[in-house]
Amino acid sequence: MKSGGLVQSRLDRVVKLIAANMVAEVCSIYAMRAGEVLELYATEGLRPEAVHSTRLRLGEGLVGQIALTAEPLALSDAQQHTNFAYRPETGEELYHSFCGVPIQLGARVLGVLVVQNRTQRSYGEEEIETLETVAMVLAELFGSGEVITLEEGRSVEGSALLPVRIGGLVLNEGMAMGRAVLHQWGIVINQVVAEDPEAEIARLDEAVGDMRRAVDRMLARMDKNLDDEQGEVLESYRMFAHDRGWLERIRDVINSGLTAEAAVERIKNDTHQRMMKVRDPYIRERLADLEDLAYRLLQHLSGTEGSSRNLPDETILIARTLGPAELLDYDRKRLRAVVLEEGSKTAHVAIVARALGLPTIGRCEGALSRIRAGDSVIVDGQNGQVFARPNQGIKQTFKASLALQEKRKAEMAAVRNLPAVSQDSVTVELLMNAGLLIDLPHLDECGATGIGLYRTEIPFMVRDAFPGVEDQQALYSKVFEQTGSRPVTFRTLDVGGDKPLPYLTMEKEENPAMGWRALRMTLDRPVMLRLQLQALIRAAKGRELRIMFPMVTDISEFDAARGMVERELAREIARGTAAPSEIKLGAMLEVPALLWQLEKLLPSIDFLSIGSNDLFQFVFAADRGNPRLTRRFDSLSPPMLRLLSDLTAQANAANVPVTLCGEMAGHPLEALALIGCGIRRLSMSAGSIAPVKQTVRALNVAEVTDLVQHLAGLRTRSVRGVLRAYALDRGIPF
Ligand code: PEP
Ligand code: MG
Repeated sequence: MKSGGLVQSRLDRVVKLIAANMVAEVCSIYAMRAGEVLELYATEGLRPEAVHSTRLRLGEGLVGQIALTAEPLALSDAQQHTNFAYRPETGEELYHSFCGVPIQLGARVLGVLVVQNRTQRSYGEEEIETLETVAMVLAELFGSGEVITLEEGRSVEGSALLPVRIGGLVLNEGMAMGRAVLHQWGIVINQVVAEDPEAEIARLDEAVGDMRRAVDRMLARMDKNLDDEQGEVLESYRMFAHDRGWLERIRDVINSGLTAEAAVERIKNDTHQRMMKVRDPYIRERLADLEDLAYRLLQHLSGTEGSSRNLPDETILIARTLGPAELLDYDRKRLRAVVLEEGSKTAHVAIVARALGLPTIGRCEGALSRIRAGDSVIVDGQNGQVFARPNQGIKQTFKASLALQEKRKAEMAAVRNLPAVSQDSVTVELLMNAGLLIDLPHLDECGATGIGLYRTEIPFMVRDAFPGVEDQQALYSKVFEQTGSRPVTFRTLDVGGDKPLPYLTMEKEENPAMGWRALRMTLDRPVMLRLQLQALIRAAKGRELRIMFPMVTDISEFDAARGMVERELAREIARGTAAPSEIKLGAMLEVPALLWQLEKLLPSIDFLSIGSNDLFQFVFAADRGNPRLTRRFDSLSPPMLRLLSDLTAQANAANVPVTLCGEMAGHPLEALALIGCGIRRLSMSAGSIAPVKQTVRALNVAEVTDLVQHLAGLRTRSVRGVLRAYALDRGIPF
């Protein structure tokens, strides 16, 4: 590769070299060209006239499948494979065995590297790895734009009508197929000019009527809980919805020949321009209201106003970003998947998506501009990619993958009732994370032994007002009812930071994650915590009550919270409420400062729960929601393994049970590492229980512990590769 010269002659030499070294009769390189077509670029063994003439669409044939799934494929008899696409000009009928790997840079597939042999042989792991290594080197050359110019790649992406593939980050696994619905901010206007202004004005008037009624309903719902100032603000919002001047301007634009949508958009843009110039914050806010109303009006015009009424049956929701409550606004029955331009694994929208079992891909650059409303979309949550307007080949390959996924699901169902016990007889307790009532039925289905983390804030985040004791009690009673005799650990309100409450105005903070949130807030606003504790004690109705406090930073905070529990318990007993059979209090370990107070803390707590999402972000000083940092630091790294091992050893010595309830627990490879750190209780979303259980059942805990302890001492950024190789070697599924 370093020898220089023309790219073509370098590729020609590369295929010769690989064929010779791998004792293969054929070695070929395919490059991804404009329009997502794979072109044979160089070959040793196939007919030379096929070079630059043989082409396969993405998803077509074995090469197309590798490019589509971004996964290697090795077959001893390729011609028997359903996806084999015969190209006579290549003369490949002579070759039976086939092994190909994607040439990829990050999530982007740039080509495919293939070797073939005459005999029906099977290629080993090592050979596949060798090919992958070569593909990595080739990817550099491809990525530099020497093979296919960078312009060629771009021109495809810019063209709205061609199929589009967008790579992203898997936030929740799973596959789905459906129609694109663009979330509020991304309404795309397909038709700009209209023949008949009167018809457009009639459409506008109808949409305005709908919108006004919807705004009135929304305001009526909120009115009860407003103070004067908030009431005024909302009243002015209502005024705008009825503002004649604004509507007149839209009508004028329609009369100049635009569609109603285009006219609203024009006026919205004008407003935006004006807003950018205004300094007075009060007026800016008013203009922002007007801009927001324009979005609502556009939604009513295009029939996309977040309501289930107009959602297609199989909706793939495309958004820049979403709050957890916004996602819940959509009708789950019609949602199939979510695609976000932003987002990270531990963002709360991702957590809600997992709870809802929605495949979700984040960091899909340009999704809103490249996917149009109504497009047919495939979400591949195995490989982190989204296809809009896919061709037949892609659809077929995808359907085959879906069938495979169903088969895997059946395998998973088979482990549901088996114990989570390792090969060397160590039991690992697998618990479920929950936060919504709709999570609870999953408890029976997934085979978890209880709820390790009940995030109480989610119901608070989706309501219009702070729920009172009765409301909360009713909610927690349902949780108790549905968990039956299984343990459930309630976490007290963890709001603030990335979890704002719609009805609680908070000062803007420079660093909300490290700001006034969780226990800090509820200790300062003790009524919030008191009401919650009362509701929990009443709902327990004499059962065991497990409560844990989020973001404990200082031992005195835990003591203060415990004091409140004791006071509320005494009050409730005096009122005649049946006391819980036992109250167990735990601290969440999310803030590093607590690590150096363990000696004092452990004797006063009943359990410890590691919130690895926050702990990781504070230990690495890496914002859990910042997509630029997602790949920079690895939780499977010596510092994290060392920290978790030491912490668990300390807790074990004090006889305090440790659970880990962050997202790490739900990934089989991470779970393997956590078990190696000595952790025996893992709490995760329902969908992760079966895969993690499969991993546990295949493990030898003693061996994994030795390995992890060794890895914790290495001088390396990540030990993920070593753990993966270990699991592969031992046939441990991950
Ligand atoms: C965590 O931080 O790991 C955790 C479980 O809490 P949350 O994700 O709700 O902040
Ligand atoms: Mg947390």
